[in-house]
Amino acid sequence: MKKIYFLSLVVAFGILSSCCHEAPAPSKSDEESLLAILYQQKAGEYRALCLQAYRLAKMQVDSALNKNPTETNYAVITDLDETVLDNSAQEGWIYEQDTTASFQSLETWWLKGKAKAVPGSVEFFQYLKKRKVDIYYISNRSASLQYIKATMANMDTLKYPYTDFPADTTHFLFEQGSVASKEPRRLKVIDTLKKNVIVYLGDNLIDLDKAFDKSADGCQNSEQRLRKVDSLKGTWGVKYIVFPNAIYGDWESAFYSKYLIDHKGANLTQEQKNKIRKKLLNSSY
Ligand SMILES: [Mg+2]
Repeated sequence: MKKIYFLSLVVAFGILSSCCHEAPAPSKSDEESLLAILYQQKAGEYRALCLQAYRLAKMQVDSALNKNPTETNYAVITDLDETVLDNSAQEGWIYEQDTTASFQSLETWWLKGKAKAVPGSVEFFQYLKKRKVDIYYISNRSASLQYIKATMANMDTLKYPYTDFPADTTHFLFEQGSVASKEPRRLKVIDTLKKNVIVYLGDNLIDLDKAFDKSADGCQNSEQRLRKVDSLKGTWGVKYIVFPNAIYGDWESAFYSKYLIDHKGANLTQEQKNKIRKKLLNSSY
């Protein structure tokens, strides 16, 4: 297998505060990123995986509606970036600019409102609206009104439901006060709004279950995450629907977890990251 080829989230936001942030923020443009971006933009396999994920989600929704047709509080909770919205053009721009991405460039991207739809997503959410299943878009985009408004305008252009600003803002639960964990927002939907959530959709495991939230001393390492995935094996494809994202995510931050804990969140150079990645590689032959 070729070299690991992914971008990094870590440096852009300051290490520990950001290592579980899910929005796209590669810290460095390099040749390794190109393959991951093209996978999202050009691979038939990527598209098929997304369609497969939305088909699974629809099967779960139909099953719930068939079981209990009188339930009026059904809902679906979904992440946005790389689950509903495809931001790979921004990643491509960063690659072409050969520049370090900053949080500012991410904010500029949100305001542009030029993200595309993840395959199968518009049809799925329109179907939910038709079947009167509520939708909560829980994203770690910043919860300032300008970003919510721009995101809703972007989604309105792509024909997603509940995108009238400001009337539909209750469907958009963005990150407030740097609380990256989505658990309080999920609980708000369940406990305060009294919704019966059928499925959760996301490309990052923190979109789905609090088990993947970062601990007090930083991100979980890869082995911890793998064990937790195994412990939740009955949920995949049933309660939790996962989308592919080879460009960025906590799966990568997890590589550097030990280093970041040992060095109290010190910045990593690209060279250090490459060294850590190579150490993780299984090359037993
Ligand atoms: Mg995401």
